[in-house]
Amino acid sequence: MAKNRFGSGYQHGSEITDNSLRKAYMMAHEFAHAEYAQTPGAEGVLKEFHKNGEFLEDKFEKLGVQPALRDPEIKKLNQQQIDTGNRLEHQAHERAWEVVTIMNRLLQVLCALFTLCAATVGQTATDASAVPCEKLPTIRELTSKEAKRVLAAFGYNLRQPYDCTKLTSRWYGTSMVLLFRSVPTRLDDQTNFSVVFTSSPHEIWVLAIASGMVEYPRVESDPHNLAAFNALLAGQTVPTTDPEWISLARSYLAIIGHEKAMLSPQISCAGGECTVELSEQQSPQVLIQWALSFDKTGRTARLQDVSRELGKRE
Ligand SMILES: [Zn+2]
Repeated sequence: MAKNRFGSGYQHGSEITDNSLRKAYMMAHEFAHAEYAQTPGAEGVLKEFHKNGEFLEDKFEKLGVQPALRDPEIKKLNQQQIDTGNRLEHQAHERAWEVVTIMNRLLQVLCALFTLCAATVGQTATDASAVPCEKLPTIRELTSKEAKRVLAAFGYNLRQPYDCTKLTSRWYGTSMVLLFRSVPTRLDDQTNFSVVFTSSPHEIWVLAIASGMVEYPRVESDPHNLAAFNALLAGQTVPTTDPEWISLARSYLAIIGHEKAMLSPQISCAGGECTVELSEQQSPQVLIQWALSFDKTGRTARLQDVSRELGKRE
């Protein structure tokens, strides 16, 4: 079972769909970092975090990320940096949630949320798998001129430190999907994106997922992202069983950075369309409900739309 390298610790304020609460979350999150900086011992931790961040950035820039990580010392420091970053972000997130929770009670906007906390103890499924890129010999596709040009068009430069994972799913066929998450060098400085290399025809798609502290709004239904996934599906057959529909849906959510275990899947088909509903336990307080609708009239299933909402009572 692959260790879940994403979403552990770093929480997304964008899971809050209410705009004013979302702003409140982000302000509270920033405030929580500032509050932490005042606590005893924090100064040293933050100083070292930033110093190590700069050191790693410099090494990655000079040597390239994969060669640099072959040095056991750098690898260890890099992991330490990821862990510290996750811990600091997680603290800020918890604190921000406290604040938002209070606001929430006042506003009565997300009242269903708290009932859900008790109701969502679920089993984890593990069919999504991922391989850390450093375990791969080389990723030739990434070094091509074309790949660099496409990445640059999105403002990405792979000489910056990224934690990279190759996603695997039967639905990707011979195409390749890589998920990148920047290694934190400063607080709230995180970029997530994925790159899809389709094999026939040969195409490169970059999906921007998150920048700074939050995901891009409506990343799940971005037409570019849906098109990238449908390009990836070329040549694949239409699912015929429920487990196939579920794994197909999960193989899309993984590409947009939601490869966590999915709970209570439901499939409903009518006419030429099938909808897959899944719940994701984003954090102890947050349950996301996903709905993915596919057109199944062609030779290949086509993803048409994806929506998410915060969990609600049945
Ligand atoms: Zn933060």
